[in-house]
Amino acid sequence: MNMNQTIPAVLAANQSPDERAIAILRELVRFDTVSRNSNLALIGWIETYLAGHGITGQRIVDPTGTKASLLATIGPASTPGYVLSGHTDVVPVDNQDWSSDPFELRIADGKAYGRGTSDMKGFVACALAIVPELVASPLAKPVHLAFSYDEEIGCVGVRPMLEIIAANPVKPLGAIIGEPSQMQVVIGHKGKRSVRARIIGTNAHSSLAPTAVNAVQFGAEIVGKVAAVAARLAAEGPRDDLYDVIHSTGHVGLFNGGEALNIVPALAEMLFEFRTIGADDADALVAEVIAFGHSEVEPRMKAIDARAGIEFDIYAGFPGLDTASEEPLVTLAKSLAGRNDHAKVAYGTEAGLFTTMVGIPAVVIGPGSITQAHKADEFIALSEISGCMAMLERLTQHCRV
Ligand SMILES: [Zn+2]
Repeated sequence: MNMNQTIPAVLAANQSPDERAIAILRELVRFDTVSRNSNLALIGWIETYLAGHGITGQRIVDPTGTKASLLATIGPASTPGYVLSGHTDVVPVDNQDWSSDPFELRIADGKAYGRGTSDMKGFVACALAIVPELVASPLAKPVHLAFSYDEEIGCVGVRPMLEIIAANPVKPLGAIIGEPSQMQVVIGHKGKRSVRARIIGTNAHSSLAPTAVNAVQFGAEIVGKVAAVAARLAAEGPRDDLYDVIHSTGHVGLFNGGEALNIVPALAEMLFEFRTIGADDADALVAEVIAFGHSEVEPRMKAIDARAGIEFDIYAGFPGLDTASEEPLVTLAKSLAGRNDHAKVAYGTEAGLFTTMVGIPAVVIGPGSITQAHKADEFIALSEISGCMAMLERLTQHCRV
């Protein structure tokens, strides 16, 4: 890094923390970090900003060399502290009807519009905006900034960074993931597994149907199994009243197969998922469907033609978040956020990975609303930025000597 670079002039003035957060957000939004693109320019900007405050981050570059996470510690690294985590990538704006340039922050009516303002450059900007206060404070506990990439395509980029955090003998006390929650203290979200099934049959003219393996018909048995498991979960599965849908769910989202009525279809492909509450095991539900396919369906396919079969591929997923409400981190988070309640949400985040990979409790608290994320004219209310800065100022006080 070029240490002669200075903090961008836009940030050099005597700004309040809120103004600083908005000025940083303006800069972050300008980087087109849609998940398919490199995020290195944005990471470089953050490094320059941190260097201006005497902080050196650790870049964790992906195998392609085009993307990186950034891990930076402010305060005594030898003491357990708190992680502030956010992703730097955003979802595409393709085919969305924006009223103004999505990569140029526009402020109107108490809202800041731009791609990623809520999800989740707003939080990243707030975490960076508190750095001068953190640096000026004698900290007894450190604050770690953990910025990832490729969250929007399956929580990919955070994993190598979490391996580094997990390998450090000094484990953080907890992680705050700043996904948009309107500053609610979120202690849970469901886990998810996404599965592809390819049903390989054999072609024949339909008049010879019994001599061929009908991939659509055998595939329909897998569809039926997923639906049966989902119905069982709905009827008698464990319950968690903090969720909108209080039980685990499963569904088939896509099914393709067949060419014409007079051809026995040789191939069918389907995608299904399970979303689980803390009391259910997502892997066990997937395994139940796979076992059914291999033991109940496949033998009848192979009896007609040995080349037939079913291939399953668990191609995406993330663990659920299920932090106990009695965790000290939850109590701290409530005092930082200035509220007494907690919630569980429908959307997934990287938070569960902090628990499964690092073994530390995690909560989701961030500015902005998930209902604004991923849409045209995404915005963050400026009051949400203020609320987040107030939380981070209280965290700074909490971590002081
Ligand atoms: Zn997000």
